[in-house]
Amino acid sequence: MKIAEGIHSLTQEKGGHVHAFLLDDGEGLTLIDSLFDTDAKLILDEIRAMGREPKDLRRILHSHAHRSHIGSTAALKELTGVPVYAHEWEAGIIDGSRKATKVGFWPKPPREAYKLQFALALGLGKHPPCRVDQTMKDGDTVGPVTVLATPGHTPGCLSFWWAERKALFVGDVVVSWPQVEAGWEGLTLDYQENLRSVGKLSEVGEPLLVGVGHGAPILRDAPEVLRRLSS
Ligand SMILES: [Zn+2]
Ligand SMILES: [Zn+2]
Repeated sequence: MKIAEGIHSLTQEKGGHVHAFLLDDGEGLTLIDSLFDTDAKLILDEIRAMGREPKDLRRILHSHAHRSHIGSTAALKELTGVPVYAHEWEAGIIDGSRKATKVGFWPKPPREAYKLQFALALGLGKHPPCRVDQTMKDGDTVGPVTVLATPGHTPGCLSFWWAERKALFVGDVVVSWPQVEAGWEGLTLDYQENLRSVGKLSEVGEPLLVGVGHGAPILRDAPEVLRRLSS
């Protein structure tokens, strides 16, 4: 779905309304996160809906290595050969050499996300592994976006700022489902650190939109929302 000029959001019902994003900077496409392993077709269909072709995909960036954000990366890499980017800490999870860090079982709000917390507590679910070609760190420029280190949800959580379009993509640092909040506590490895990352995001600029990892993009009063969540 088009949410702004050159920006499409992709979602599916599973995984707590997980979202990925396609950016078209005129040169080609950048995919931020890849949904589940069954979603490659959904992503390719959206590329065509943008009037583009799979060969126009230039790169796949990852906000972090939780299963619902990395599932289709291997299939898309196989099909298009594009480079895959992630933070160094997350790369070993994406390539299958280690598992995602487990969280506790003790239920934390929101209750709608408990199924996901439970799965991560048990270490359930696999994604098709995929080699990471390039690591990213704070301050890097990759395609149209600037990389921001926003740890807390996981140590290697990254956000992406497309300054030209005033669009910010924050992975699970902020969620909007079932309500807007500074991440889901039950799935966040270091909640206080995540709050500091929200504070960092609130100082990035004046975003017109914030694409979050779960739930609809925040299209109204995004700077105020980030400031409120970080205070
Ligand atoms: Zn996550
Ligand atoms: Zn997530």
